[in-house]
Amino acid sequence: MRYSVFCIIKVNYIITSGPGMVEPYKYTLSNFTKSFALVILTGNILANKLATPDSSPFITLLQGFLINSWVYWIHRLSHLMPDSIFNYHIFSHHDKKLNLPRHFELFFEFYCNMSWFLLLILIQYIFNIELVPKLIILFFGLWYSSAHVINLSMIPNDEHKIHHTEMNYNYGPPFMDFIFNTLKVEEGYTNDSQVINGVVIFTVLDLIKYAVANFIAPSSPE
Ligand SMILES: [Zn+2]
Ligand SMILES: [Zn+2]
Repeated sequence: MRYSVFCIIKVNYIITSGPGMVEPYKYTLSNFTKSFALVILTGNILANKLATPDSSPFITLLQGFLINSWVYWIHRLSHLMPDSIFNYHIFSHHDKKLNLPRHFELFFEFYCNMSWFLLLILIQYIFNIELVPKLIILFFGLWYSSAHVINLSMIPNDEHKIHHTEMNYNYGPPFMDFIFNTLKVEEGYTNDSQVINGVVIFTVLDLIKYAVANFIAPSSPE
């Protein structure tokens, strides 16, 4: 009797919380902090450093939110639009209609992702406004596009597999999925692994910015 009770408890443990079974992610403030505080904080500090020296971190945070909302909704809308050559994310990356070798397809997808950010630069240029500095758009664009191609596509993972199989979850960036209720990951998920992309991209852009300011187009002394 005691043995059968033990067996029932053990089987129940394996089914509900044992190895291989992970609880679905809960949308709580504490989970949001654990999953995204590091990536958001790093992004804000680095973007603020790329912007003009006296820009406020709060403004940079709003600018980061604007860019990430922009790309989240373009991506989400592209999934609602009919498949055509103009809807190239679906056409080439999801439906794979171009039938490209995997490496070319990912290279093309990097370009497709970047075009969503370049479109924002173009719109600002056409309307002669600068809600977000171009360098910050490039920074978040390269971060997003590199994460999609390297962290989510070249390195197999369940988070992005769900985006490709169920199509209406995990559009990215993941904290935007959290905000708009489309994040489907396991409990304990964090976005920390993508922080390295931001640091590397920041370093390259900051070096380019330094080189342009000091060697290529130095401002003449007053
Ligand atoms: Zn993908
Ligand atoms: Zn997609």
